[in-house]
Parts: sequence; C-alpha cells; structure tokens
Amino acid sequence: MQPENEYSYLFKVVVVGDGGVGKTSITMRFSQGIFRESYKMTIGVDFAVKTIEVDTPFGRRLVKYQVWDQSGQERFAHIRPLYYRGAIGSLCVYDVTNYESFEHLPSWIEEVEQYCGDIPMILVGNKRDLPRSVPLEDALEFAIKRNLLYFETSAKTGENVNEVFADLARLIILSRSQV
Ligand code: GDP
Ligand code: MG
Repeated sequence: MQPENEYSYLFKVVVVGDGGVGKTSITMRFSQGIFRESYKMTIGVDFAVKTIEVDTPFGRRLVKYQVWDQSGQERFAHIRPLYYRGAIGSLCVYDVTNYESFEHLPSWIEEVEQYCGDIPMILVGNKRDLPRSVPLEDALEFAIKRNLLYFETSAKTGENVNEVFADLARLIILSRSQV
C-alpha cells in the first residue's frame, strides 16, 4: 500500500436497540476482541475507539471509529441529544432470540432519524449463535422494506462483527463522496 493512498477518517457512530440485545457486547467485541457473559449495565453512554482499514472504490482507507454505546433505558432519555450529536452512521440492533426487540426496530430507526437525519444505517440481528425466534424471512422483509443492509452477528463468537463495521464505513464513505 502506498502511503499517499492512505487517508484517515474519524467516524462517530451510534449503536441503538433495546436493552439486552447486545449493543455493549458488539462494541466490546469490535473494539477489544473480547466477549463476556455479563457486563455491568451501561449507565448512560460510553464510547469505544478502534481504527480499521477498509477497502473502498477509492482505495484502502484508514477509519478511526468512535462507537457510542447507549443504554436503552428510558430514564436516560435526557442525554440522548449528546449521544446522537455528530453521529454519521448507526447500527440498529435487535436480538434474533427476542421478537419484541425486533418489533421495536421502527421506533429506534425513527429516533436515529429524528436526531441525525438520513445517515447510513445497518440493521443487525445479534445472538445468531442461539436458537432464533425471529424468522429470517421477517428480518429480510423488514430490511428490504426499509432499504437497509442486514447482517446477523454473534458478539459471542465474533461472527460478522468486523464485517458490519467495515461495511458501515464503506457506506459512510460512499454517502459522503456523492456530489
Ligand atoms: P445491551 O444491553 O444491548 O448492551 O446488551 P449486552 O451487550 O449487555 O448483552 C446482554 C446479554 O446478552 C449479556 O449477558 C451478553 O453476554 C449476552 N449477549 C450479547 N451478545 C450475545 C451473542 O451474540 N450471543 C450470546 N449467546 N449472548 C450474547
Ligand atoms: Mg449495554
């Protein structure tokens, strides 16, 4: 790789979805490469940083991610503007073993749009290492209807976690390169 081809970006992205779907686990898996059965409940917001290389139509790029991981709890609603401020991409996460978390996706998408406008978003069905209760057809139908990329991940095994972040980076880079 030629050094002159390198260009680095700093991307703030937000991870949204119901409590317990695995937002913290995905963020930790991506940023630290680890998984724990239990994290202390996220109080308010935390962010994790990680730099990755991504191949784009314009060449290889360095992306510095700042991943903001939110508590899904309603009582922290007052800090939401801070959480969303400056975010240019999002992961909207549900738990494939929990149908309710799937049914709540529209309100999460609406919240991202309300605070951030039309930013690149990827739909993520997490805990794919467990028996699912949300049929794949339902998830795909929803993703197609909303025109969203869809991934199924396991923060536990690490499956697809890096892929989601690489694709989100590509989406962001492409969306910002349009005239
Ligand atoms: P958050 O509330 O959305 O941040 O969810 P957490 O990351 O705290 O995860 C909630 C629970 O689900 C924890 O006990 C995690 O260990 C577990 N968990 C998260 N992701 C996965 C996964 O991909 N597979 C399995 N089996 N468990 C997971
Ligand atoms: Mg959490």
